[in-house]
Amino acid sequence: MNKDDIKKLAANEKFIAGIYNYCDRWCERCAFTARCMNFAMTREYDDDPETSDINNEKFWQSISDIFKVTRELLEESAEELGIDFDDIDFEEPAREEGIKEKMTENHECCRAAKKYYQMVPEFFESEYVPSLQVVDKKHVENASELQKSDVLDGPPTLDEMVEIIFWYQHFIYVKLMRAVRGTLGNADEEWDDFPKDSDGSAKVALIAIDRSMAAWGHMHRFFPSHQDQIMAIIVHLERLRNRTETLFPDARKFARPGFDEV
Ligand code: SF4
Repeated sequence: MNKDDIKKLAANEKFIAGIYNYCDRWCERCAFTARCMNFAMTREYDDDPETSDINNEKFWQSISDIFKVTRELLEESAEELGIDFDDIDFEEPAREEGIKEKMTENHECCRAAKKYYQMVPEFFESEYVPSLQVVDKKHVENASELQKSDVLDGPPTLDEMVEIIFWYQHFIYVKLMRAVRGTLGNADEEWDDFPKDSDGSAKVALIAIDRSMAAWGHMHRFFPSHQDQIMAIIVHLERLRNRTETLFPDARKFARPGFDEV
């Protein structure tokens, strides 16, 4: 895809502007693929499995193509706006960004989200639980604690719950990092009349926490003798949710393009 293809896509009115900024990136399950420019752009690469294989040269070529086109578009915009990159001092902003990054990483919400993504493998790798193999139905026979009827008959299945947990495991941290970073300095204040990006990011993090908690709630049934461990994870998520809602009181009200409004 070259920059003209991207411009053509950008001019297509069927796409909902910015819908991909506040989604959960789970395109396989998204009802808006036909209205998402990001999906249209990445489909070219997704159609070729080699471009998703990190060990394949095509993967790195596709990354290189994306950087090249992005750079071309950036240079074109800069020229139109009369901006010369050589006149810009990048050092001071880079230093400020480094400080903000550290402050964000040390924020209690981000630390709690990081702790959560570490708790997930601790649970699955614990000597008591029949490991990640439970996701694979071939290994269900070996999962002594599994209630097989729950896995094989009707929703919600164990592998679905595990899929949800893994999908959002790091997503919560990434979105909370973005949300918290947005509260530092005056990034959001400069756009007082607009919905805050930090609220949008916090909202998708909250949705991911809600879904993860629901999935862990079902895990209870699959691993009845590990209720304490599962409950500790749910309580951790509950606290993280409360802290996030306190820090971003307007997040739940944020209207995500497409999902909450068109
Ligand atoms: S809006 Fe839907 S299709 Fe687009 S990137 Fe997000 S999940 Fe994927």
